[in-house]
Amino acid sequence: MKVALRCISCEKTYSQDTRSYTCPECSGLLEVCIDLDEVRLTKGMLEQRSFTLWRYRELMPVMDASRAVSLREGGTPLYRAPEIAEYAGVREVYIKNEGANPTGSFKDRGMTVGVTKALEFGARAVGCASTGNTSASLSAYAAKAGIRCLVLLPAGKIALGKLAQAVLHGATVVGIRANFDVALSLIKEACAKYGVYLLNSINPWRLEGQKSCGFEIAEQLGWEVPDRVVVPMGNCGNISAIWKGFREFRSLGLIDELPAMTGIQAEGASPVVEAFRAGRSEIVPVKEPETVATAIRIGAPVNAPKALRAIRESGGCAESVSDAEILEAQRVLARCEGVGVEPASAASVAGLRKLVEMGEVDRSERVVCVTTGHALKDPEIIFSRYEKPLEIEPSILELGKIISSGA
Ligand SMILES: *Cc1c(COP(=O)(O)O)cnc(C)c1O
Ligand SMILES: [Zn+2]
Repeated sequence: MKVALRCISCEKTYSQDTRSYTCPECSGLLEVCIDLDEVRLTKGMLEQRSFTLWRYRELMPVMDASRAVSLREGGTPLYRAPEIAEYAGVREVYIKNEGANPTGSFKDRGMTVGVTKALEFGARAVGCASTGNTSASLSAYAAKAGIRCLVLLPAGKIALGKLAQAVLHGATVVGIRANFDVALSLIKEACAKYGVYLLNSINPWRLEGQKSCGFEIAEQLGWEVPDRVVVPMGNCGNISAIWKGFREFRSLGLIDELPAMTGIQAEGASPVVEAFRAGRSEIVPVKEPETVATAIRIGAPVNAPKALRAIRESGGCAESVSDAEILEAQRVLARCEGVGVEPASAASVAGLRKLVEMGEVDRSERVVCVTTGHALKDPEIIFSRYEKPLEIEPSILELGKIISSGA
């Protein structure tokens, strides 16, 4: 496989052995470029393979896919969701449920490739700053690889399930008395100084794993591309990765069309939506981002240029939703489709509904909403929003009252 790194700003290319996460010339974002003329991947070849991310190994830029650090990530379900279609007001909706990954979020797609690259580069320790799921995922993959893991978290702002995972898998967990954006700049400095391999989504190799979500959507729809893919945006790596996946599949002739990429942010953390509306390519960072959707509580998304490019190139759009809209969509997913997601994930459904209402999305569309993380990640938000479970003496009389009340 012929692979290089290319700067998305100045377009200078670098060898794949380059250890830098950004362009040494202009500090633009780097992107992994695979020479697709040399790749042979057919629908027939895929038929024989099990449904995990590594079925696409011809497009995964690692030295030896058979030695990848894997927990069988990917291969998540794509549900047809008629109740959500009705709720949002479009013809057809599918839910790509990324909460079904091994640690409960799409981050696992990035970490299987990212930690495999870390070992190739000879790293003995990996690190990240995280709003929660990156740390949960990285700590599991570092454990599998047998290397050390350092995670920096905004103290007191991490959903309990995610924190529990990082602790369980044995990471060195450090709370920082500041927000995510500050934690990210601190871990970057620490990684450069102490030789820790950084696995935030500024790392272009991680996004190579995440592009497989696009591959799977195309395959699961019988090689038909949906009109639109709606993705919650935090640091904005995922939407750009999914877009890259669709583009590579089209270059290989596996699909004929491309979906409109649609990014959703929370109102209290929506710098990319603002930039999109204003027709700008640079964001103005939000100093104190705030939302119940902690996974997308990010004021200065590092991958904003990649996300804006994906949205504009694909003819998509960006919109923001309120916390109330997010929590309502979470409830509808849970109660009408049986799909339990964390708040950030529900932003995709809330955003679709809003865009249809605004007339930005046509009612005849076939749409895939990506739900990014599992409901169990954030049990506290559920207990703070919903009725407490009932409690009674073990009496058939008392139980009977409840049953007949229809509660
Ligand atoms: C990380 C994460 C996001 C944001 O993804 P980005 O690639 O940072 O835009 C959204 N939802 C969940 C559940 C996440 O864990
Ligand atoms: Zn550059």
